[in-house]
Amino acid sequence: MGRFVPLSIPNFEGNERKYVDDALDQGWVSTGGAYITELEEKLAEFLQVKKTAAVQSGTSALHLSLIACGVQPGDMVIVPTLTFIAAVNPVRYQFAEPVFMDCDDSLCMDPLKLRRFCENECVTEDGQLKHRATGKTVKAIVVVHVFGNMADMEAIMDIAQEFHLKVIEDATEALGTQYTKGRYAGKFAGTIGDFGAYSFNGNKIITTGGGGAVTAKDPTEVEHLKYLSTQAKDDPHFYIHNEVGYNYRMTNLQAALGVAQMEELPEFIHRKQKNYGLYQQLLQEFSGGTLLSFREGTSSNQWFYSLKLDMEKLQGKNMRDVITTLQERGVQTRAIWGLIHEQLPYQDAIAYEMEKAPYYSSCILNIPSSTQITDDDIRFVVEQIKVVFKSGI
Ligand SMILES: *Cc1c(COP(=O)(O)O)cnc(C)c1O
Repeated sequence: MGRFVPLSIPNFEGNERKYVDDALDQGWVSTGGAYITELEEKLAEFLQVKKTAAVQSGTSALHLSLIACGVQPGDMVIVPTLTFIAAVNPVRYQFAEPVFMDCDDSLCMDPLKLRRFCENECVTEDGQLKHRATGKTVKAIVVVHVFGNMADMEAIMDIAQEFHLKVIEDATEALGTQYTKGRYAGKFAGTIGDFGAYSFNGNKIITTGGGGAVTAKDPTEVEHLKYLSTQAKDDPHFYIHNEVGYNYRMTNLQAALGVAQMEELPEFIHRKQKNYGLYQQLLQEFSGGTLLSFREGTSSNQWFYSLKLDMEKLQGKNMRDVITTLQERGVQTRAIWGLIHEQLPYQDAIAYEMEKAPYYSSCILNIPSSTQITDDDIRFVVEQIKVVFKSGI
């Protein structure tokens, strides 16, 4: 078989095997053990926050954050429509209602529309934002830093403050992305809002197989979330529980992987950035589309690369044809997500002024971005993309 370049695969070049073996040797494989604490400390140090809590997944990190924001049945939470559905499902776990927001050209939530929704569709009563048409309380915003690109946090935080909304940052794709300029210079994605969620799923920038972490502006909230993630056990010996808890704690085996991955994170980010640079250079003359850039004034982890295709040039063929043909030519790519407000469980929810999300949903192709990818692989990928466009499909 010829060359095959996968989209995004995990990288275990470091101490992964050593630490996992060590955890096995110690017999600490479950939800207690030194690697869990070490991962939490390493992550806190990296993110320059006081505390983090290691959990089972990014999804559980988001669910716990919603609980801590006081999101209750019948409340509303503003969410993006152009993202992975895990950012939205936890809203329903709380029997709350998502309000879907459009994206801007960064693929992240559009702050102008967010403001317009709060101003025009809602009123403030007793320090709470109420949705006029339904009378429901809007409690929080889930902001996703799509593909490692920082959302416009200055604008979003201003709006959140003005309209009494909690901000949960879904930084599952953006570990290591930070502001370099402006009000939040030096601040990392996930450390600006009230809560920040991270994921260590298989295709994220670091992986623990499955896993995640959560942080909060208020370190006592992190302690509370840790407590909720371990079945809310108040007394370790007599099984006293004063709240409804969850089985959301990360295991020591996962954390052993995570500690090794954290050691490599700076190198992974460096490679993602370098590889993006080469793609950018090679795709400069490409007439079939443009490689999307990352926000000015930030340093992104550049986790995923987005090629915006000029669909007109495809001579009647569609995204599926492009993906299939590239696959046959040894290049694995994927389409961006289907919009969440169009998915069966969410078709009744409010979708506010959708315009850019449908557009980007139709024309973004994610191209290979693993940290192991070589310069030669990248040249091969770009060549295949160009051939597919030139010859038609
Ligand atoms: C990966 C991802 C999640 C969920 O993380 P899991 O660890 O898979 O639960 C949530 N939101 C976004 C945007 C993601 O990409």
